[in-house]
Amino acid sequence: MPDGRKTVCVIGAGIVGVVTAALLQREGHDIVVVEPAGPGEGASFGNAGCLSASSVVPLSMPGTATGIARSIRDPMGPLAIRWRHLPNVAPWLVRFVRSGTYAKVREQARALRLLLAPSVVLYGSLLEEMGAGELLRSVGHLYVYRSEASWLKERLHWQLRRENGIAWDELDADALRQFDPKLSTEYVRGALLAANGHVTNPYRVVTAILAGILARGGRLVRGRAVGFDLEGTRLGAVRMEHGALSADAAVVTAGAWSRSLAAALGDRVPLESQRGYHLMLSDPEVSPRVPTNDAEGKFMVTPMELGLRAAGTVEFAGLRAPPNWDRAHVLMRQARRMLPGLRASYEAERITKWMGHRPSLPDSLPVIGRSRRTPDVVYAFGHGHVGLAAAPMTGRIVADLVGGKPPSVDISPFSASRFG
Ligand SMILES: Cc1cc2nc3c(=O)[nH]c(=O)nc-3n(C[C@H](O)[C@H](O)[C@H](O)COP(=O)(O)OP(=O)(O)OC[C@H]3O[C@@H](n4cnc5c(N)ncnc54)[C@H](O)[C@@H]3O)c2cc1C
Repeated sequence: MPDGRKTVCVIGAGIVGVVTAALLQREGHDIVVVEPAGPGEGASFGNAGCLSASSVVPLSMPGTATGIARSIRDPMGPLAIRWRHLPNVAPWLVRFVRSGTYAKVREQARALRLLLAPSVVLYGSLLEEMGAGELLRSVGHLYVYRSEASWLKERLHWQLRRENGIAWDELDADALRQFDPKLSTEYVRGALLAANGHVTNPYRVVTAILAGILARGGRLVRGRAVGFDLEGTRLGAVRMEHGALSADAAVVTAGAWSRSLAAALGDRVPLESQRGYHLMLSDPEVSPRVPTNDAEGKFMVTPMELGLRAAGTVEFAGLRAPPNWDRAHVLMRQARRMLPGLRASYEAERITKWMGHRPSLPDSLPVIGRSRRTPDVVYAFGHGHVGLAAAPMTGRIVADLVGGKPPSVDISPFSASRFG
Protein backbone atom coordinates (compact mmCIF):
# COMPACT_ATOMS: atom_id res chain seq x y z
CA MET A 1 0.00 0.00 0.00
CA PRO A 2 1.71 3.25 -1.11
CA ASP A 3 0.03 5.43 1.57
CA GLY A 4 0.58 2.78 4.28
CA ARG A 5 -3.14 2.10 4.52
CA LYS A 6 -3.82 -1.63 4.88
CA THR A 7 -6.76 -3.96 5.07
CA VAL A 8 -6.30 -5.60 8.46
CA CYS A 9 -8.20 -8.69 9.52
CA VAL A 10 -8.58 -8.88 13.30
CA ILE A 11 -9.32 -12.47 14.33
CA GLY A 12 -11.52 -12.58 17.44
CA ALA A 13 -13.86 -9.94 18.88
CA GLY A 14 -12.97 -10.04 22.55
CA ILE A 15 -11.63 -6.98 24.35
CA VAL A 16 -8.12 -7.40 22.94
CA GLY A 17 -9.49 -7.73 19.39
CA VAL A 18 -11.85 -4.75 19.45
CA VAL A 19 -9.46 -2.38 21.24
CA THR A 20 -6.70 -3.34 18.80
CA ALA A 21 -9.07 -2.92 15.85
CA ALA A 22 -10.12 0.53 17.09
CA LEU A 23 -6.52 1.70 17.44
CA LEU A 24 -5.63 0.31 13.99
CA GLN A 25 -8.63 2.13 12.54
CA ARG A 26 -7.46 5.37 14.20
CA GLU A 27 -4.24 4.96 12.19
CA GLY A 28 -6.28 4.90 8.98
CA HIS A 29 -6.40 1.16 8.24
CA ASP A 30 -9.46 -0.66 6.87
CA ILE A 31 -10.71 -3.08 9.48
CA VAL A 32 -12.39 -6.48 9.17
CA VAL A 33 -13.19 -8.14 12.49
CA VAL A 34 -13.81 -11.90 12.32
CA GLU A 35 -15.80 -13.63 15.03
CA PRO A 36 -17.61 -17.01 15.04
CA ALA A 37 -19.66 -16.42 18.22
CA GLY A 38 -21.16 -13.31 19.82
CA PRO A 39 -18.65 -10.42 20.01
CA GLY A 40 -17.56 -9.97 23.63
CA GLU A 41 -19.00 -13.29 24.74
CA GLY A 42 -15.66 -14.98 25.46
CA ALA A 43 -13.49 -14.26 28.52
CA SER A 44 -14.19 -10.57 28.02
CA PHE A 45 -17.85 -10.97 28.92
CA GLY A 46 -17.67 -11.70 32.60
CA ASN A 47 -14.39 -10.49 34.04
CA ALA A 48 -14.13 -8.44 37.23
CA GLY A 49 -13.88 -5.21 35.24
CA CYS A 50 -10.63 -4.11 36.88
CA LEU A 51 -8.10 -1.88 35.20
CA SER A 52 -5.31 -2.76 37.57
CA ALA A 53 -2.17 -0.89 36.71
CA SER A 54 -0.86 -2.66 39.83
CA SER A 55 -1.41 -6.28 38.63
CA VAL A 56 2.27 -6.84 37.98
CA VAL A 57 2.50 -9.93 40.20
CA PRO A 58 2.80 -13.07 38.05
CA LEU A 59 0.62 -16.06 38.93
CA SER A 60 3.57 -18.34 39.44
CA MET A 61 5.70 -17.09 42.31
CA PRO A 62 8.42 -18.73 44.39
CA GLY A 63 6.65 -21.46 46.39
CA THR A 64 3.84 -21.98 43.87
CA ALA A 65 4.56 -25.73 43.58
CA THR A 66 3.33 -26.27 47.15
CA GLY A 67 0.10 -24.39 46.35
CA ILE A 68 -0.50 -26.58 43.30
CA ALA A 69 -0.01 -29.77 45.32
CA ARG A 70 -2.63 -28.53 47.83
CA SER A 71 -5.05 -27.52 45.08
CA ILE A 72 -5.22 -31.00 43.63
CA ARG A 73 -6.86 -32.11 46.89
CA ASP A 74 -9.39 -29.24 47.14
CA PRO A 75 -11.77 -28.88 44.18
CA MET A 76 -13.43 -25.81 45.77
CA GLY A 77 -10.19 -23.96 46.61
CA PRO A 78 -8.99 -20.79 44.86
CA LEU A 79 -6.94 -22.95 42.45
CA ALA A 80 -8.38 -26.29 41.30
CA ILE A 81 -7.31 -28.91 38.79
CA ARG A 82 -9.74 -31.49 37.43
CA TRP A 83 -8.18 -34.94 37.67
CA ARG A 84 -9.17 -35.82 34.13
CA HIS A 85 -7.33 -32.77 32.76
CA LEU A 86 -4.18 -33.31 34.81
CA PRO A 87 -2.23 -35.31 32.16
CA ASN A 88 -2.96 -32.60 29.54
CA VAL A 89 -2.02 -29.69 31.74
CA ALA A 90 1.00 -31.30 33.49
CA PRO A 91 3.67 -30.02 31.01
CA TRP A 92 2.16 -26.53 31.26
CA LEU A 93 2.24 -26.72 35.06
CA VAL A 94 5.90 -27.71 34.98
CA ARG A 95 6.72 -24.63 32.89
CA PHE A 96 4.47 -22.57 35.19
CA VAL A 97 6.36 -23.61 38.32
CA ARG A 98 9.73 -23.10 36.60
CA SER A 99 8.82 -19.56 35.64
CA GLY A 100 8.29 -18.62 39.30
CA THR A 101 11.89 -17.94 40.35
CA TYR A 102 12.86 -14.68 42.07
CA ALA A 103 14.81 -13.51 39.03
CA LYS A 104 12.10 -14.39 36.52
CA VAL A 105 9.17 -12.88 38.42
CA ARG A 106 11.07 -9.57 38.60
CA GLU A 107 11.44 -9.56 34.80
CA GLN A 108 7.81 -10.57 34.30
CA ALA A 109 6.60 -7.83 36.66
CA ARG A 110 8.59 -5.20 34.73
CA ALA A 111 7.10 -6.40 31.44
CA LEU A 112 3.55 -6.46 32.84
CA ARG A 113 3.94 -2.93 34.15
CA LEU A 114 4.69 -1.68 30.62
CA LEU A 115 1.36 -3.07 29.45
CA LEU A 116 -0.71 -2.04 32.45
CA ALA A 117 0.51 1.39 33.56
CA PRO A 118 -1.40 3.46 30.95
CA SER A 119 -4.62 1.40 31.10
CA VAL A 120 -6.97 3.89 32.78
CA VAL A 121 -5.78 6.86 30.72
CA LEU A 122 -5.98 4.99 27.40
CA TYR A 123 -9.49 3.65 28.16
CA GLY A 124 -10.52 7.17 29.14
CA SER A 125 -9.87 8.53 25.65
CA LEU A 126 -11.07 5.42 23.78
CA LEU A 127 -14.37 5.10 25.63
CA GLU A 128 -15.05 8.85 25.27
CA GLU A 129 -14.39 8.57 21.54
CA MET A 130 -16.84 5.64 21.32
CA GLY A 131 -19.53 7.49 23.30
CA ALA A 132 -19.26 5.15 26.30
CA GLY A 133 -17.21 7.24 28.73
CA GLU A 134 -19.76 6.60 31.49
CA LEU A 135 -18.52 2.98 31.81
CA LEU A 136 -15.17 4.04 33.30
CA ARG A 137 -14.61 4.68 37.02
CA SER A 138 -11.31 5.84 38.54
CA VAL A 139 -11.87 5.23 42.24
CA GLY A 140 -9.03 2.81 43.02
CA HIS A 141 -9.01 -0.77 44.35
CA LEU A 142 -8.76 -2.17 47.84
CA TYR A 143 -6.87 -5.37 48.80
CA VAL A 144 -7.94 -6.85 52.14
CA TYR A 145 -6.34 -9.47 54.42
CA ARG A 146 -7.84 -11.52 57.24
CA SER A 147 -4.61 -11.91 59.19
CA GLU A 148 -1.24 -10.34 59.62
CA ALA A 149 0.26 -13.66 58.54
CA SER A 150 -1.46 -13.61 55.14
CA TRP A 151 -0.34 -10.00 54.62
CA LEU A 152 3.25 -11.01 55.38
CA LYS A 153 2.94 -14.01 53.07
CA GLU A 154 2.42 -11.57 50.19
CA ARG A 155 5.43 -9.45 51.10
CA LEU A 156 7.09 -10.24 47.76
CA HIS A 157 3.92 -9.19 45.87
CA TRP A 158 4.08 -5.75 47.43
CA GLN A 159 7.81 -5.53 46.92
CA LEU A 160 7.34 -6.18 43.19
CA ARG A 161 4.71 -3.44 43.09
CA ARG A 162 7.03 -0.98 44.88
CA GLU A 163 9.92 -1.82 42.54
CA ASN A 164 7.65 -0.94 39.64
CA GLY A 165 6.67 2.47 40.92
CA ILE A 166 3.21 1.52 42.20
CA ALA A 167 1.97 3.52 45.20
CA TRP A 168 -0.61 2.52 47.83
CA ASP A 169 -1.90 3.50 51.25
CA GLU A 170 -1.75 0.84 53.97
CA LEU A 171 -4.80 0.62 56.19
CA ASP A 172 -4.94 -1.02 59.61
CA ALA A 173 -8.17 -2.50 61.01
CA ASP A 174 -9.50 0.88 62.22
CA ALA A 175 -8.64 2.68 58.99
CA LEU A 176 -10.33 -0.11 57.02
CA ARG A 177 -13.56 0.30 59.07
CA GLN A 178 -13.49 4.02 58.40
CA PHE A 179 -12.83 3.60 54.70
CA ASP A 180 -15.59 1.06 54.18
CA PRO A 181 -17.76 0.15 57.19
CA LYS A 182 -19.63 -2.43 55.09
CA LEU A 183 -16.64 -4.76 54.99
CA SER A 184 -16.37 -7.62 57.47
CA THR A 185 -14.55 -6.83 60.72
CA GLU A 186 -12.60 -10.02 60.02
CA TYR A 187 -10.23 -7.97 57.84
CA VAL A 188 -7.29 -6.57 59.76
CA ARG A 189 -5.15 -5.20 56.94
CA GLY A 190 -5.77 -3.38 53.69
CA ALA A 191 -3.99 -1.61 50.87
CA LEU A 192 -5.69 1.07 48.81
CA LEU A 193 -4.38 1.46 45.26
CA ALA A 194 -5.76 4.81 44.21
CA ALA A 195 -4.43 4.82 40.63
CA ASN A 196 -6.43 1.75 39.53
CA GLY A 197 -9.78 2.00 37.79
CA HIS A 198 -12.61 -0.26 36.68
CA VAL A 199 -15.38 -0.52 34.13
CA THR A 200 -18.94 -1.10 35.21
CA ASN A 201 -19.88 -3.49 32.38
CA PRO A 202 -17.01 -5.28 30.57
CA TYR A 203 -19.35 -6.75 27.93
CA ARG A 204 -20.74 -3.31 27.07
CA VAL A 205 -17.18 -2.01 26.75
CA VAL A 206 -16.58 -4.56 23.94
CA THR A 207 -19.89 -3.95 22.18
CA ALA A 208 -19.60 -0.13 22.43
CA ILE A 209 -16.09 -0.17 20.93
CA LEU A 210 -17.16 -2.57 18.18
CA ALA A 211 -20.21 -0.42 17.38
CA GLY A 212 -17.86 2.57 17.05
CA ILE A 213 -15.60 0.64 14.67
CA LEU A 214 -18.56 -0.38 12.49
CA ALA A 215 -19.93 3.19 12.50
CA ARG A 216 -16.55 4.35 11.15
CA GLY A 217 -16.64 1.93 8.21
CA GLY A 218 -15.18 -1.26 9.74
CA ARG A 219 -16.73 -4.64 8.95
CA LEU A 220 -17.72 -7.59 11.13
CA VAL A 221 -17.60 -11.01 9.44
CA ARG A 222 -19.24 -13.91 11.26
CA GLY A 223 -17.10 -17.02 10.93
CA ARG A 224 -14.07 -18.89 12.20
CA ALA A 225 -10.54 -18.28 10.95
CA VAL A 226 -8.63 -21.53 10.46
CA GLY A 227 -5.32 -20.53 8.86
CA PHE A 228 -3.47 -18.25 6.46
CA ASP A 229 -2.67 -18.23 2.75
CA LEU A 230 0.87 -17.00 2.26
CA GLU A 231 2.51 -15.83 -0.95
CA GLY A 232 6.15 -16.39 -0.04
CA THR A 233 6.48 -14.56 3.26
CA ARG A 234 3.57 -12.18 2.59
CA LEU A 235 0.00 -12.68 3.69
CA GLY A 236 -2.49 -13.21 0.88
CA ALA A 237 -5.61 -14.09 2.81
CA VAL A 238 -6.99 -15.33 6.09
CA ARG A 239 -8.45 -18.78 5.52
CA MET A 240 -11.90 -19.21 7.00
CA GLU A 241 -13.91 -22.36 7.72
CA HIS A 242 -15.88 -21.33 4.64
CA GLY A 243 -13.87 -19.36 2.10
CA ALA A 244 -11.11 -16.80 2.59
CA LEU A 245 -10.74 -13.09 3.33
CA SER A 246 -8.01 -11.27 1.49
CA ALA A 247 -6.00 -8.98 3.75
CA ASP A 248 -2.68 -7.13 3.85
CA ALA A 249 -2.22 -7.92 7.52
CA ALA A 250 -3.91 -9.99 10.24
CA VAL A 251 -3.92 -9.90 14.02
CA VAL A 252 -4.58 -13.06 16.05
CA THR A 253 -6.70 -12.02 19.04
CA ALA A 254 -8.63 -15.27 19.49
CA GLY A 255 -7.95 -15.50 23.24
CA ALA A 256 -7.75 -19.05 24.60
CA TRP A 257 -8.44 -20.40 21.09
CA SER A 258 -5.35 -18.85 19.46
CA ARG A 259 -2.99 -21.83 19.70
CA SER A 260 -3.91 -23.54 16.43
CA LEU A 261 -3.70 -20.25 14.50
CA ALA A 262 -0.15 -19.67 15.80
CA ALA A 263 0.74 -23.29 15.05
CA ALA A 264 -0.39 -22.75 11.45
CA LEU A 265 2.49 -20.25 11.18
CA GLY A 266 5.05 -22.48 12.88
CA ASP A 267 4.78 -20.97 16.37
CA ARG A 268 4.17 -23.52 19.13
CA VAL A 269 2.89 -21.74 22.20
CA PRO A 270 1.83 -23.45 25.44
CA LEU A 271 -1.53 -21.70 25.71
CA GLU A 272 -3.86 -23.06 28.40
CA SER A 273 -7.23 -21.99 29.73
CA GLN A 274 -7.35 -20.84 33.33
CA ARG A 275 -11.07 -21.01 33.82
CA GLY A 276 -12.64 -18.41 36.08
CA TYR A 277 -16.17 -17.89 37.37
CA HIS A 278 -18.37 -15.05 38.36
CA LEU A 279 -21.58 -14.70 40.24
CA MET A 280 -23.73 -11.58 39.84
CA LEU A 281 -26.31 -10.39 42.31
CA SER A 282 -28.81 -7.79 41.14
CA ASP A 283 -30.01 -5.09 43.59
CA PRO A 284 -27.58 -6.00 46.38
CA GLU A 285 -28.34 -4.55 49.83
CA VAL A 286 -24.71 -3.49 50.14
CA SER A 287 -21.77 -2.93 47.82
CA PRO A 288 -18.13 -2.26 48.58
CA ARG A 289 -17.09 1.37 48.20
CA VAL A 290 -14.48 0.39 45.59
CA PRO A 291 -13.64 -2.95 43.88
CA THR A 292 -12.25 -5.07 46.69
CA ASN A 293 -9.90 -8.04 46.45
CA ASP A 294 -9.88 -10.72 49.14
CA ALA A 295 -6.26 -11.85 49.17
CA GLU A 296 -6.84 -15.29 50.71
CA GLY A 297 -9.94 -16.17 48.67
CA LYS A 298 -8.36 -14.84 45.42
CA PHE A 299 -11.57 -13.16 44.31
CA MET A 300 -12.69 -9.64 43.57
CA VAL A 301 -16.02 -8.02 44.38
CA THR A 302 -16.83 -5.19 41.96
CA PRO A 303 -19.84 -2.85 42.06
CA MET A 304 -21.23 -2.86 38.51
CA GLU A 305 -23.99 -1.35 36.40
CA LEU A 306 -26.16 -4.48 36.76
CA GLY A 307 -25.35 -5.36 40.38
CA LEU A 308 -22.57 -6.82 42.43
CA ARG A 309 -20.06 -9.13 40.74
CA ALA A 310 -17.89 -11.60 42.67
CA ALA A 311 -15.31 -12.99 40.24
CA GLY A 312 -12.11 -14.92 40.27
CA THR A 313 -10.44 -18.21 41.21
CA VAL A 314 -8.65 -20.54 38.81
CA GLU A 315 -9.68 -23.94 37.49
CA PHE A 316 -7.67 -26.09 35.07
CA ALA A 317 -10.14 -28.23 33.16
CA GLY A 318 -9.54 -27.35 29.50
CA LEU A 319 -11.74 -25.66 26.92
CA ARG A 320 -14.44 -28.30 26.60
CA ALA A 321 -15.40 -29.62 30.06
CA PRO A 322 -18.71 -28.29 31.41
CA PRO A 323 -18.60 -25.65 34.16
CA ASN A 324 -18.60 -26.71 37.79
CA TRP A 325 -21.22 -24.26 39.04
CA ASP A 326 -20.43 -25.11 42.65
CA ARG A 327 -17.34 -22.97 42.16
CA ALA A 328 -19.54 -19.97 41.29
CA HIS A 329 -21.67 -20.59 44.37
CA VAL A 330 -18.56 -20.62 46.54
CA LEU A 331 -18.00 -17.06 45.29
CA MET A 332 -21.42 -16.08 46.68
CA ARG A 333 -20.50 -17.44 50.10
CA GLN A 334 -17.19 -15.62 49.92
CA ALA A 335 -18.85 -12.33 48.94
CA ARG A 336 -21.20 -12.67 51.90
CA ARG A 337 -18.26 -13.26 54.18
CA MET A 338 -16.68 -10.05 52.84
CA LEU A 339 -19.95 -8.08 53.07
CA PRO A 340 -22.01 -9.39 56.01
CA GLY A 341 -24.86 -7.03 55.01
CA LEU A 342 -25.70 -9.40 52.13
CA ARG A 343 -28.45 -11.93 52.87
CA ALA A 344 -27.75 -15.64 53.39
CA SER A 345 -29.70 -16.61 50.27
CA TYR A 346 -31.33 -14.97 47.27
CA GLU A 347 -34.10 -15.85 44.83
CA ALA A 348 -32.66 -17.59 41.76
CA GLU A 349 -33.81 -14.78 39.46
CA ARG A 350 -31.53 -12.28 41.22
CA ILE A 351 -28.43 -14.39 40.60
CA THR A 352 -26.58 -15.06 37.36
CA LYS A 353 -23.44 -17.12 37.01
CA TRP A 354 -20.79 -17.43 34.34
CA MET A 355 -17.58 -19.25 33.48
CA GLY A 356 -14.88 -18.01 31.08
CA HIS A 357 -11.49 -19.03 29.72
CA ARG A 358 -8.51 -16.83 30.60
CA PRO A 359 -5.98 -17.35 27.78
CA SER A 360 -2.84 -18.14 29.77
CA LEU A 361 0.85 -18.68 29.16
CA PRO A 362 2.98 -20.22 31.93
CA ASP A 363 5.02 -17.04 32.57
CA SER A 364 1.92 -14.83 32.98
CA LEU A 365 2.91 -12.74 29.95
CA PRO A 366 0.96 -12.55 26.69
CA VAL A 367 2.31 -13.22 23.23
CA ILE A 368 2.57 -9.95 21.30
CA GLY A 369 4.66 -9.70 18.16
CA ARG A 370 5.09 -10.84 14.59
CA SER A 371 4.68 -14.46 13.58
CA ARG A 372 7.64 -16.62 12.61
CA ARG A 373 6.60 -17.18 8.95
CA THR A 374 5.31 -13.76 7.95
CA PRO A 375 5.71 -10.20 9.22
CA ASP A 376 2.12 -9.56 8.15
CA VAL A 377 0.52 -11.62 10.92
CA VAL A 378 0.82 -10.19 14.40
CA TYR A 379 -0.10 -12.05 17.59
CA ALA A 380 -1.89 -10.47 20.55
CA PHE A 381 -3.20 -13.20 22.82
CA GLY A 382 -2.59 -14.94 26.12
CA HIS A 383 -3.27 -12.04 28.49
CA GLY A 384 -4.41 -14.32 31.32
CA HIS A 385 -5.75 -12.39 34.29
CA VAL A 386 -5.13 -8.91 32.88
CA GLY A 387 -6.50 -8.87 29.33
CA LEU A 388 -9.03 -6.14 29.96
CA ALA A 389 -6.46 -3.86 31.58
CA ALA A 390 -3.68 -4.64 29.08
CA ALA A 391 -5.76 -4.37 25.89
CA PRO A 392 -5.10 -0.67 25.08
CA MET A 393 -1.29 -0.89 25.35
CA THR A 394 -1.40 -4.18 23.43
CA GLY A 395 -3.43 -2.46 20.71
CA ARG A 396 -0.89 0.37 20.52
CA ILE A 397 1.99 -2.06 20.08
CA VAL A 398 0.11 -3.94 17.35
CA ALA A 399 -0.80 -0.69 15.56
CA ASP A 400 2.90 0.26 15.53
CA LEU A 401 3.94 -3.16 14.19
CA VAL A 402 1.28 -3.13 11.45
CA GLY A 403 2.27 0.45 10.56
CA GLY A 404 5.94 -0.54 10.30
CA LYS A 405 6.98 1.62 13.29
CA PRO A 406 9.08 0.47 16.23
CA PRO A 407 6.83 -0.01 19.30
CA SER A 408 7.28 2.50 22.12
CA VAL A 409 8.19 -0.26 24.60
CA ASP A 410 10.51 -3.28 24.53
CA ILE A 411 8.37 -6.18 23.30
CA SER A 412 11.01 -8.91 23.50
CA PRO A 413 9.49 -10.42 26.72
CA PHE A 414 6.27 -11.08 24.75
CA SER A 415 7.82 -12.91 21.80
CA ALA A 416 6.25 -16.24 20.74
CA SER A 417 9.76 -17.61 20.22
CA ARG A 418 10.49 -17.51 23.98
CA PHE A 419 8.92 -20.98 24.13
CA GLY A 420 11.40 -22.39 21.62
C1 LIG B 1 -13.36 -14.59 36.32
C2 LIG B 1 -12.45 -13.68 35.53
C3 LIG B 1 -12.14 -12.41 36.03
C4 LIG B 1 -11.27 -11.58 35.34
N1 LIG B 1 -11.05 -10.30 35.78
C5 LIG B 1 -10.25 -9.46 35.08
C6 LIG B 1 -10.08 -8.11 35.48
O1 LIG B 1 -10.69 -7.66 36.45
N2 LIG B 1 -9.25 -7.32 34.77
C7 LIG B 1 -8.58 -7.78 33.65
O2 LIG B 1 -7.80 -7.03 33.07
N3 LIG B 1 -8.77 -9.05 33.20
C8 LIG B 1 -9.59 -9.88 33.89
N4 LIG B 1 -9.80 -11.16 33.45
C9 LIG B 1 -9.08 -11.62 32.25
C10 LIG B 1 -9.72 -11.08 30.98
O3 LIG B 1 -11.11 -11.28 31.01
C11 LIG B 1 -9.10 -11.79 29.77
O4 LIG B 1 -7.69 -11.70 29.82
C12 LIG B 1 -9.57 -11.12 28.48
O5 LIG B 1 -10.97 -11.07 28.44
C13 LIG B 1 -9.04 -11.86 27.27
O6 LIG B 1 -9.56 -11.19 26.15
P1 LIG B 1 -9.38 -11.76 24.69
O7 LIG B 1 -9.96 -10.75 23.78
O8 LIG B 1 -7.96 -12.17 24.51
O9 LIG B 1 -10.20 -13.13 24.69
P2 LIG B 1 -11.76 -13.41 24.56
O10 LIG B 1 -12.58 -12.38 25.24
O11 LIG B 1 -11.99 -14.81 24.99
O12 LIG B 1 -12.04 -13.24 23.02
C14 LIG B 1 -11.55 -14.13 22.06
C15 LIG B 1 -12.55 -14.17 20.93
O13 LIG B 1 -12.00 -14.89 19.85
C16 LIG B 1 -13.04 -15.64 19.25
N5 LIG B 1 -12.44 -16.74 18.49
C17 LIG B 1 -12.02 -17.95 18.96
N6 LIG B 1 -11.53 -18.70 17.95
C18 LIG B 1 -11.63 -17.95 16.83
C19 LIG B 1 -11.30 -18.20 15.46
N7 LIG B 1 -10.73 -19.33 15.07
N8 LIG B 1 -11.59 -17.22 14.55
C20 LIG B 1 -12.13 -16.03 14.95
N9 LIG B 1 -12.45 -15.77 16.23
C21 LIG B 1 -12.20 -16.71 17.17
C22 LIG B 1 -13.86 -16.11 20.43
O14 LIG B 1 -15.17 -16.49 20.03
C23 LIG B 1 -13.84 -14.88 21.32
O15 LIG B 1 -14.94 -14.02 21.09
C24 LIG B 1 -10.69 -12.02 34.12
C25 LIG B 1 -11.03 -13.27 33.60
C26 LIG B 1 -11.92 -14.08 34.28
C27 LIG B 1 -12.28 -15.41 33.69
